[in-house]
Amino acid sequence: AEPLLKVNGLKKYFPIKSGFFGRTTGSVKAVNDVSFEIYEGQTLGIVGESGCGKSTTGRAIMRLLEPTDGEVIFEGKSITKMTSSEMRKARRDIQMVFQDPYASLNPRHNVQKILEEPLKVHNIGTPEERKEKVAKLLEIVGLSSYHASRYPHQFSGGQRQRIGIARALMTNPKLIIADEPVSALDVSIQAQVLNLMSDLQDELKLTYIFIAHDLGVVRHISDRVAVMYLGKIVEIADSEMLYENPMHPYTQALLTAVPVPDPDFVRKESLIKGDIPSPANPPTGCAFHTRCPYKMDICSQQTPEIVEYEIGHSVACHLHSDRNNDNKD
Ligand code: SF4
Ligand code: MG
Repeated sequence: AEPLLKVNGLKKYFPIKSGFFGRTTGSVKAVNDVSFEIYEGQTLGIVGESGCGKSTTGRAIMRLLEPTDGEVIFEGKSITKMTSSEMRKARRDIQMVFQDPYASLNPRHNVQKILEEPLKVHNIGTPEERKEKVAKLLEIVGLSSYHASRYPHQFSGGQRQRIGIARALMTNPKLIIADEPVSALDVSIQAQVLNLMSDLQDELKLTYIFIAHDLGVVRHISDRVAVMYLGKIVEIADSEMLYENPMHPYTQALLTAVPVPDPDFVRKESLIKGDIPSPANPPTGCAFHTRCPYKMDICSQQTPEIVEYEIGHSVACHLHSDRNNDNKD
């Protein structure tokens, strides 16, 4: 089968302006040549520290931010080439769930109005049909139709995220881009929302891009996981391969940084040294070389290409280039 979504060489650069006249003096390569595919009904986790470009990737796919370069193909059609009216239609099929449900829900509107809005925008249904749809979606996300008359501040964080999810589902989308949907929630509530999303995926045959800063969060929901660092995917693999055989030193570091009860153990095992470099001025060669415990001479000179080392497992790291050459022979 063809993938539902194909992202080819996606780039999003932001100009850096400086000085009195605000001249453009350079650019932040927030997303720098990102490619991946997702099949229907699957979940791709995208993981990395803040500033790695994961949220920008999500927004550029939907053209909430216009890509600088590259192509996004959804159901065989190029999103990047669509006119704005074609794009509006495509947005029914691709919806977003945001990190902070409180910020993304209008505090002056009740839940009925909030949930109806996507239907009104797309001119779907009569007022009566919209009301029924709202009631149905509230049930689906574990709330009730009597919640429709209430306002966002009357709900807990977890309930608000359920409303955010219901809103995303109003137009019967195929793809949901969830940008850190559980990061703002208490750990105990995170699991409930993750379970809900996973149940909805099965019931409604949804495809997810699930963005997170923590590999632990996406582990159980993802079929594949992409790890991003300073605008690039440094490793992408089927979940089992990634968690059992992480090949990139950054992925290994993220995995060992997963919190464990004994704080001394975390300190001992964490491989990441130093802060993430500024995306405006990334290191030469492999951008991770300033923090990598395995850095070699070549690492600061040459950017490693992303290469598939085994079926379904690609890595961008010079440590593995010997294996790459062996495979080619
Ligand atoms: Fe480390 Fe070099 Fe691999 Fe980059 S290319 S992750 S610096 S070993
Ligand atoms: Mg973000």
